Amino acid sequence: MFKELLGKKYDDYLGFIRRSMIQDQIVSRGVKDRRVLAAMHKVCRHCFVPEDLVTRAYEDYPMPIGRGQTISQPYIVALMSELLELKGAERVLEIGTGSGYQTAVLAELAAEVYTMELFPDLAADAARKLKGLGYTSIKFNTGSGTAGWPEHAPYDAIIVTCAAKAVPPALLEQLKEGGRLVIPVGEEGRQDLKQLTKTSSGITENSVCAVRFVPLLDVLPPEP
Ligand code: SAH
Repeated sequence: MFKELLGKKYDDYLGFIRRSMIQDQIVSRGVKDRRVLAAMHKVCRHCFVPEDLVTRAYEDYPMPIGRGQTISQPYIVALMSELLELKGAERVLEIGTGSGYQTAVLAELAAEVYTMELFPDLAADAARKLKGLGYTSIKFNTGSGTAGWPEHAPYDAIIVTCAAKAVPPALLEQLKEGGRLVIPVGEEGRQDLKQLTKTSSGITENSVCAVRFVPLLDVLPPEP
């Protein structure tokens, strides 16, 4: 709708609205990594929300994407991306493709992205969108990510975009030494966002802030 109304000015409008999102929601809350801010400016969040929410795509909220799942709030995507400490050459595993928005941000920040999604229709939608946007460094896997994706391990960084009751051991196993795992851990309704780092002497843990994510599911729920 905006595209038709604004014509040639549409890209300027999107540039403006994304810069505002970055300043008002992300920089103001302390995210500093310049590569993360550039990726958040580049990726079209409105490409990843349902059609009826396109005009609200840059607002400061998570939004429903179907199947009871959500696209995360822009700030949380930026914060988790920063906590992965990516420089550009890494291999990253993502559990919970969802809309594919975080996946696109990861693809801007790292060399290879492996992403897993439990719901086949969400996985197919995200793969279609990301391929359509020209991303070629992303590999997709439909199924539960609780056991990770051992074929491509070890990973420099792993991100889980749904809440785990406890850290799945396979994910720590599949992390390189020096690698970071960013994951919300806790009960339904409120979790701690944790950044775990694998070192030669074990795992170090940094509790970053309280968050609220949809749960990491064990199995695909029955159709309603
Ligand atoms: N990063 C996504 C967040 C989606 S919400 C985005 O910004 O759009 C979390 C996603 O995790 C949901 O799509 C949900 O279906 C998925 N999920 C839940 N349990 C899972 C599991 N065991 N394995 C893989 N994906 C899972």
